[in-house]
Amino acid sequence: MKQFKAESKRLLDLMIHSIYTHREIFLRELISNASDAMDKLYYKSLQDGDTGLSREDFCITIEIDKENRSLSITDNGCGMTKDELENNLGVIAKSGSLHFKQEQEKQDEIDIIGQFGVGFYSAFMVSDCVTVRTRAYGSDEAFQWQSKGAEGYTITPCDKDSHGTQIILHIKPNTEEEQYDEYLDPFRIQSIVKKYSDYIRYPIQMDMERSRLKEDSKDQPEFETVVERTTLNSMVPVWKKRKSEVSDEEYQRFYQEKFFDFQKPLRIIHSSTEGVCSYSALLFIPANAPADYYTRQYEKGLQLYASGVMIMERCGDLLPDYFGFVRGLVDSQDLSLNISREMLQHDRQLQLIESRLEKKIKSELESMLTNDRETYETFFKNFGLQLKFGAYADYGAHKELLQDLLLFYSSSEKKPVTLKEYVSRMKEGQTHIYYACGDDLARVETMPQIELLKDKGMEVLCLTDDVDEFVFKTIGEYAGKSFKNISSDDLELESEQEKQSHQEQIEQNQDLLAFMQESLDGKVAKVVLSRRLKSHPVCLSTEGDVTLEMEKVLNAMPSGGQVKAVRVLEINGGHPVFAALQSLYEKDREKLKAYTDLLYGQALLIAGLPIDDPAAFSDQLCRLMEQQA
Ligand code: ADP
Repeated sequence: MKQFKAESKRLLDLMIHSIYTHREIFLRELISNASDAMDKLYYKSLQDGDTGLSREDFCITIEIDKENRSLSITDNGCGMTKDELENNLGVIAKSGSLHFKQEQEKQDEIDIIGQFGVGFYSAFMVSDCVTVRTRAYGSDEAFQWQSKGAEGYTITPCDKDSHGTQIILHIKPNTEEEQYDEYLDPFRIQSIVKKYSDYIRYPIQMDMERSRLKEDSKDQPEFETVVERTTLNSMVPVWKKRKSEVSDEEYQRFYQEKFFDFQKPLRIIHSSTEGVCSYSALLFIPANAPADYYTRQYEKGLQLYASGVMIMERCGDLLPDYFGFVRGLVDSQDLSLNISREMLQHDRQLQLIESRLEKKIKSELESMLTNDRETYETFFKNFGLQLKFGAYADYGAHKELLQDLLLFYSSSEKKPVTLKEYVSRMKEGQTHIYYACGDDLARVETMPQIELLKDKGMEVLCLTDDVDEFVFKTIGEYAGKSFKNISSDDLELESEQEKQSHQEQIEQNQDLLAFMQESLDGKVAKVVLSRRLKSHPVCLSTEGDVTLEMEKVLNAMPSGGQVKAVRVLEINGGHPVFAALQSLYEKDREKLKAYTDLLYGQALLIAGLPIDDPAAFSDQLCRLMEQQA
């Protein structure tokens, strides 16, 4: 007897001792394995062209033997070699089970069984002995795998007439809590197949009893019971059905099973197009980003089917990067089955489909934004960053497409808003869209520079993602309004009179400002009297194209050399501290130097930047305290 690998054993234990109420899903799992196995063989036969197999040759058969308590599922798919049998059923498999492992920290175990495909091992939820008899296509040897549970399994040679796999479940005896007998009832099995596996594209057949009128019944109608081989499923894949024929629940179930998501999708896009390029598409906007979404490991793409046969698991060319979160599939009869990845890239049909899907996805998002704001905000929390990258990427080639889908937090609305909404609320005569940048909202909202704007009733967009400011620079102008960073640009908020008096104040204090600048010894390009401060004494601003935020972001990039923003120390001419500076300029230049250093340090701290020499800063501050005491 061979041992299961540790992970498999854990999963197996869970299945055997499961108190999960939807045990019925074991059938769905075994049927979809059978269907996959037939897909594999069918696909191979289409490629090789010499197997002589056609789609009609494939079939799944379910047999019930009540007396021996056995339920078997037989397919004539690719089957498994001895090695495959060992590798596939002795070791936990990819897809569903892997997700299971990742998610189990977060989720209740019982939930997981229902939400994810747990594959072959789910057979142990209803069965105390599982036998797999299989013969690989093209081989004349067959093997039997058998296991009674966690102790292990055996593999022995066996007889089998044709290729394919037969799974025989010995159904557990009834217990007080659980009626396992139901899995030996043809009607129950029929309804499980209908519920979960209706769209499987191969016939799932079973012998069913039916009563019919006796042909030779003369005077009185007489009935007889006949056993007929019956196809249980309708074989039409969900995406081939008309929208009106598919219930929300069916869509959801399909999505959750196929894409291993335990949450319902936020939106479902189902569309079919006939004409120059015919295809059906079934797309889903997920509620959550997968754990690896913002990493290089994440591979965007849709499943690609050619006339109902899956030819690619993730076809990236069907989705632009910025909509890479969309899951789903495309089925087109205009694609060749043998098309290679390289050829697909240049395929006109595919490009056409991509651009149509892009429009569909965009309009779905727009409708969510307009009609279901709350859901959109959830969506944006997860995938907004991707849309922002999209607006910024390729020198803004997609900004028109994406700019109205972006949300930014508004200082006055206290929630994320669109640019369109911002512009619609602009004050009369306001010609700019004001924004402020920082690491987090709390910090941005309390920036000294924001006060004056708030005072004048101006809305400020608070940007906290690294890419945000680059997005604004890329968009350049929205509805004829340019963007203004409240820390670096001329805010153009003053009246002529204010400008005049500001100018006068500058002239009067030129020497003081020049002295302070010199004493900072190149740390700032200028010391100026501020036009953007209200109650705070100082702030740091920048001149030119590179702002402090951009400096941080660019320098954090692996390739991002040493970019430096041109720093300007702004002093509030109306603040009492300024009067102190003025008087020190006359009386005590050494002290003025120390004060200048302190103010510069404060400005850095407020901007969220490290001070050059924290110990010196602290010493200076203490000296000042001592003097005041
Ligand atoms: P999954 O289907 O998620 O890969 P399973 O545990 O259900 O995981 O199955 C493990 C592997 O066993 C499958 O990937 C497949 O290679 C193989 N397998 C299972 N059932 C069959 C079958 N009926 N015919 C051929 N191979 C099968």
